[in-house]
Amino acid sequence: ESYLSRLRLTEPHLRSFLHLSDAVSQQASRIDELIAGNEQVGPLAGVLVAVKDNICTADMPSTGGSRVLEGYRPPFDATAVRKIKELGGIVVGKTNLDEFGMGSTTEGSAFQVTANPWDVSRVPGGSSGGSAAAVSARQCVVSLGSDTGGSVRQPASFCGVVGLKPTYGRVSRYGLMAYASSLDVIGCFGSSIADTGILLHAISGHDRLDATSSKREVPDFASQFASTDFLESKPLKGLRVGLIRETLDDGVDSGVISAIRGAALHLEDLGCSVSEISLPSFSLGLPAYYILAASESSSNLSRYDGVRYGNQVTAGELTSLYGDSRSKGFGPEVKRRILTGTYALSAGYYDAYYKRAQQVRTIIRKSFKAALDENDILISPAAPSAAYKIGEKKDDPLAMYAGDIMTVNVNLAGLPALVLPCGFVEGGVAGLPVGLQMIGAAFDEEKLLKVGHIFE
Ligand code: GLN
Repeated sequence: ESYLSRLRLTEPHLRSFLHLSDAVSQQASRIDELIAGNEQVGPLAGVLVAVKDNICTADMPSTGGSRVLEGYRPPFDATAVRKIKELGGIVVGKTNLDEFGMGSTTEGSAFQVTANPWDVSRVPGGSSGGSAAAVSARQCVVSLGSDTGGSVRQPASFCGVVGLKPTYGRVSRYGLMAYASSLDVIGCFGSSIADTGILLHAISGHDRLDATSSKREVPDFASQFASTDFLESKPLKGLRVGLIRETLDDGVDSGVISAIRGAALHLEDLGCSVSEISLPSFSLGLPAYYILAASESSSNLSRYDGVRYGNQVTAGELTSLYGDSRSKGFGPEVKRRILTGTYALSAGYYDAYYKRAQQVRTIIRKSFKAALDENDILISPAAPSAAYKIGEKKDDPLAMYAGDIMTVNVNLAGLPALVLPCGFVEGGVAGLPVGLQMIGAAFDEEKLLKVGHIFE
């Protein structure tokens, strides 16, 4: 009830949700009954979870933030949603996003712009801006987002919450609307590391419905939160931390750089040895990402033809049915990506763009692997600035793409990364949060959560 009343109070100002469930109270009462009857309940019993609207839910619409899917109701739950429900979690609603995850502000949603709870004239980040804002304003306990190039981590940074991008393959993508399948992962938001880790544990593991989901065992991420290790004077003694030099370049706000340097000192106080390391291929990540993500999306989005899903614009001749449904159904950013991707994949340009970008991806993957052989974790800002004003970058796609520089490499390398608040810069009413990104070795989310828990 307390979350629901907070939701009613804040939602008109924030617009985090595209759909709200009308069954929350009823589902919560059912859990109360089970508890009163001494029946077993799951570890997420009664926990309100918000779900990004590109993740399928059978009992609520799932639009991906796109007109092309307006009113679409999938006949099934995504695996991550099914697991949450099986453990007693209650899905409170579907959150706003940039159309199909393409964007960094939620301004690319076909339906509404979400506001940042720290300053409602600013963007919450994106594309999972609704899920980040909802946790930040305590409209729910935890939420699911998706991260193809930073869409969990950058909004976590802008909204001052914890955001976790798992290793590629840790969480099933079944029921996540495909943007760029080799980069997409479902990720978690929480207001603490413990909440975020518990949610990750709930949704992780192999799924026969997603052939890319990993068969590796899922450690009990949550058990370590009960430990009191952090009371020791140097709880992280011996941990080798590499601060990525290229992420503290000229283009990064000075306030962000000081917050990250402050975080590095805090890690040293906790016993870590922090050294600056160089990843010379770092700046290649952005162009490689935008070629690969656009190429994959141009192929994935061909399924929205007005016949199989969602909106159909004319029932005339077949080719005009496709054309009209797609021209009216997709927004400008999605069209830009489809055109860019189709161009990069076309016969005459494939070698110059797509193939080269794949080669760059291999170089990036190797350089991260080498850096993580020498260091336990790598750190960087989560974004080059704090949250900016709504409208500021709306008409300048390249400026918006440039803001993804801190996060895209991690997806290209398939690694896990955790973002947590580490300071503030001036702005808004009470300052604007800055997020620290911690990058770990593949499938070592456990270490990131441990360090994050001690750090916070
Ligand atoms: N902003 C990036 C993009 O537009 C990342 C989005 C995401 O992670 N879904 O592609």
